Parts: sequence; C-alpha cells; structure tokens
Amino acid sequence: MVRLTALLGKRMRRWNGWGDPSITMELPEEGRHLLEGVLGKGVAREDASRRSLLKRVPKSRLSEHSLVVTDAENRLDHAHGQSLPDWISLRGGTLDRFPDGVAFPSGEEDVRELINFAAYQKATIIPYGGGTSVLGHLSVPETREPVLTVSLKRLNRLLHVDAESLLATFEAGIMGPDLEAHLQSRGFTLGHYPQSFEYSSLGGWLATRSSGQYSTRYGRADEMFMGGTVIGPGGTLNIRPFPASAAGPDLRHLVLGSEGRMGIITGAVLRISPLPELDDIYGLFFPSWNHAVEGARKLFSEPITMSMVRLSNARETEINLALSGHARTTAFLKRYLSLRGVKVPEGCMCLVGFSGSSRQVAAARREASLILKKEKAIFLGKAMGEAWKKNRFRIPYLRNSLWNAGYAVETVETAVTWDRVTEMVETLERAISESLSSWNERLLVFSHLSSPYATGSNIYTTALFRVAPAPEETLERWKHVKNAASSAIARCGGTISHQHGVGLDHKPWMEAEKGSLGMKITASAFLPMDPEGRMNKTKLL
Ligand SMILES: Cc1cc2nc3c(=O)[nH]c(=O)nc-3n(C[C@H](O)[C@H](O)[C@H](O)COP(=O)(O)OP(=O)(O)OC[C@H]3O[C@@H](n4cnc5c(N)ncnc54)[C@H](O)[C@@H]3O)c2cc1C
Repeated sequence: MVRLTALLGKRMRRWNGWGDPSITMELPEEGRHLLEGVLGKGVAREDASRRSLLKRVPKSRLSEHSLVVTDAENRLDHAHGQSLPDWISLRGGTLDRFPDGVAFPSGEEDVRELINFAAYQKATIIPYGGGTSVLGHLSVPETREPVLTVSLKRLNRLLHVDAESLLATFEAGIMGPDLEAHLQSRGFTLGHYPQSFEYSSLGGWLATRSSGQYSTRYGRADEMFMGGTVIGPGGTLNIRPFPASAAGPDLRHLVLGSEGRMGIITGAVLRISPLPELDDIYGLFFPSWNHAVEGARKLFSEPITMSMVRLSNARETEINLALSGHARTTAFLKRYLSLRGVKVPEGCMCLVGFSGSSRQVAAARREASLILKKEKAIFLGKAMGEAWKKNRFRIPYLRNSLWNAGYAVETVETAVTWDRVTEMVETLERAISESLSSWNERLLVFSHLSSPYATGSNIYTTALFRVAPAPEETLERWKHVKNAASSAIARCGGTISHQHGVGLDHKPWMEAEKGSLGMKITASAFLPMDPEGRMNKTKLL
C-alpha cells in the first residue's frame, strides 16, 4: 500500500519529459552495456528549446472569455500527452497543433458555461485530466474551427465519504496522490495505482478505463465507478450509485472508456475499501516461462485474496536485473538460483502480493505457495517486493534517461484468454523485433503479465529502439513499431487495449475488434450528450 498522510499540493513537472524535474533515475552501467550490445550505441539528440516551441503557437481563434486563457505557455503545455509521438514532437521541436485556449473551471456551472461558449464559437472541446495519455487522446485535431482544452485540475475536492456504504464522492479532476491522501487519512483506500498515479486524475482513469497495479485486489477503475455526473452539450447525466441494479443497460459503461467523447465527467462516486493491515509482496523465480504461466493460471483459478501478480518473461527478468543497479546482489542472486535449478537466461521473475488482515494474508500466502511450488517456484522472501514498492512510480523516469542516451521506449498492451497467452507474447515480440529491419535497426523487446484473471491475462510489452537523427525519422520508426504490434495483436485475437484506451493511435484497429454495428452503437450512444460532435472530435471513433 502506498501510505499517504499529507496532501502533496502542487507537483512540479518536466515540460518535455516524465515527472518531477528534481527526480532522475540514472541508467546503470550494466543496463547501458546491455542496450549497446543489442541496439548499438545510442546518440543523444539535441532537444528543441521551450522558447522555440512557444514561438510556434499561433494566434488564438477564440474570442475572449473570463474562464479561458490563451497565452502560449498554457497552450503548449496542454497540446500533448505522454505518448511517444508526443515526446518526439516536443523533443524534436516539431509540435505544430495547439489548442486555441485552455480553461480551468472551478465547478459544474463553469463547465456548463464553457460548453455553451464552445457551442457559440463552434469549437471542439478536449477534456484534460492529468495529461498522461499515451495514445494521442489530447492531440489537437486539424480543424478550421477553434479548439478549447478544458483542464479539470481545479475540480479537485473530496465531496463526501459514506463510511457505512464504503462510498466516496470526488470531483473528477483530483489527482491520484491527493485522492489517496484524503481517503487514507480516514482509514480507507481506493487502491488504484496506475504507474502514472502521481500525475493522472480520477476523470482520466474513468474516461480511459485504467487498470492499476493492485487491480487484482481492488478491481480496475471500471469496477470502482459506482455513479457520477457527466456534463455534455446535450445536458447533464447523473448516474446514481446503486449497489446493484437490473434496470436495463448500465449507463456507467457508456461513461467508462468514453475518452472525452460523451462530455466532461465532473464528479464520481467510488467504491472504497478499509486500509489493509498488511500489504506484503513476495519475490519468486520460476525455472521457465511455461512453468510461470501455468502457475499464474492456476493461482487465478482459485479464490485466493491477492493484491497483485506481476510475471516477467525471461528477457524482461534479465533486463530488470541489469537495470536494478545492484550488480553484486544480482550476481549473488544468479548463483543462488542456479544452485536451486533456475538459470537466469530462462528463469522468470515474479512478484505476488497479498493484502488484508494478517489472518487473510497468511491463509492466502499458504494457498498460493502450495500452487506455485508445484510449478517449481523458488520463493525469495519480501526484499524484492519491498524494492519494487519503493520504485513503483520511479520506473517511468528511466524514459528520460534512456531518451537522453539516444533510446526511445514504446509500450504495447493487450489481453487474451489463457490458451493464447504464450502465442501472443511470442507473436507480438517477433513482429516488433522485425519491424525496423528496413532501417537495419534492432529492437530490445520484453514482456510481462501484470493483470491475470481467471479467464486469461493482460500482456504488457516494452520495446526500445534508437532515436534517429531527425524527429521525422524517429516518428516513422515508431509508426512501423506500432503498426507491427497492433497488427500482431489483431491477428492473434487480442484486444487492442487492456488499459491505455484508444485515443488516436488505436483507432484504426477498433472496427476489427467491435465490428461495424458495434461501432455504430457506440457512436450513437454518445449522440444525445453531444449532438453536434464537439467533444474530443477524432478520438476513439
Ligand atoms: C508513465 C506512464 C505510466 C502509465 N501507467 C498506466 C497504468 O499503469 N495503467 C493505466 O491504466 N494507464 C497507465 N498510463 C496511461 C494513463 O496514465 C492513463 O490512461 C490515465 O488514466 C490517464 O489519466 P489522465 O488524468 O492523465 O487523463 P488525460 O491523459 O488527461 O486524458 C485521457 C483521456 O481522458 C479524457 N478525460 C480526462 N479527464 C476527463 C474528464 N474529467 N471527463 C471526460 N474525459 C476526460 C481526455 O479527454 C482523454 O481523452 C500510464 C501513462 C504513463 C505516461
């Protein structure tokens, strides 16, 4: 559990990279050698200056409004998310579309006023939560009409806690750490920890159907959302938080994953849980991927109270060890595992977490050990789990150091049933690995499972490749990687996204997954809320 006792207040943020500018995650020497061995030496490219990007911001096409600012600084900072194309255009200085204005409403009345203003100006509205989208959700479309980005950051209050019914009502712009701090100071938790936790918002989690590191215990954002308010050009939708209902289709499922197309989520009622007494994570190794997958599948076929399972394939295990920065401990660990029959080039690292009362945790741990030991798992105690907890939100900072060393990082994720998990990992990794052959460039590709279910699992694959001399070429390389990965996912019967959503980058693959009737149903469901199609045009559908 991430214990938060104080509100963190205003967070500093890098303008062209990830996270707090005072935090750096160095690339360890062993990791650098591994990268150079596989990909070749990376070359650091000079970053565009903020000044040069500010100069690209054109004159605003919006009329003046007291809730809207049109200065270049705000328009630059709200013109992108955190996708690799976003990074390439920021670092390379090629970003060329900016919202015409940014609004910071403080309540529902302001939101209604802004929607009316946008209608009058015939403007497109982009709701903006924390700006951590990795799929182009926040990109400004090429339109003749103005674009207004609406940041929810001032709608950040806790409105109500119903301790008896385990419900809490928040405004939707609240950020992860603030939301948890409010709940934890009252003895509760939401338990939603995406890796972007520090900079992502409640509204963004719901609009993208986010999944957190403890989704095994607390569910995805989907399962936490009990009701709430969405305001669109067509009106205000209020969904009440019934414990269960058979009154026709569930409207919550239209809001979830709506990616700003339906309207602006202004508040949400969430299912909360008492803070657990224990939150233990154990490290273990399997001798092979097949043993590991079978172990995970069997764990989830039983009703065992776990908080998380994160299972790295052999390549990811090797890279995790190389990037850990603890060369001596790693060497000792490899020798120990070898004596126990696990060779690191084939061995797979796994973290299994349990949270709840000490009685629940002891019982769950006993059950899980019995199952996993049959798959030859070697248990290593809690040290690896503690180290992971400490760094759980620090890993994305490596993206900054990798870019500075000349390497780009793309992540791809899907979910499939158990019978296809291994086939999907192999197909996906092969397709990505071959995707830059026309440039004679290699990729470093590795995968893990972090949200297993009884019926199957998510697959999360990371790909590293060298940044090219020109941003346009790096973008071309990324397109090849993304296209190869998405085609492999579709071919192998996976969903185009388990957790990041659709945005712009997954849009071409939606119809293959939903079918043309499914796409029409989705589009028509948003119509009463947004009859003129003003909301986050060009995304999702
Ligand atoms: C380093 C890193 C790690 C990540 N790890 C995870 C992870 O572990 N799990 C995961 O699920 N995702 C992860 N993501 C992706 C991203 O953080 C999630 O998609 C997150 O839910 C986005 O929230 P946000 O507040 O930043 O939304 P934004 O990026 O601001 O917006 C995303 C979409 O939601 C819409 N939106 C935002 N707020 C509202 C609102 N109030 N009403 C209507 N629409 C709204 C926007 O219009 C946009 O379409 C990660 C991203 C990064 C960069």
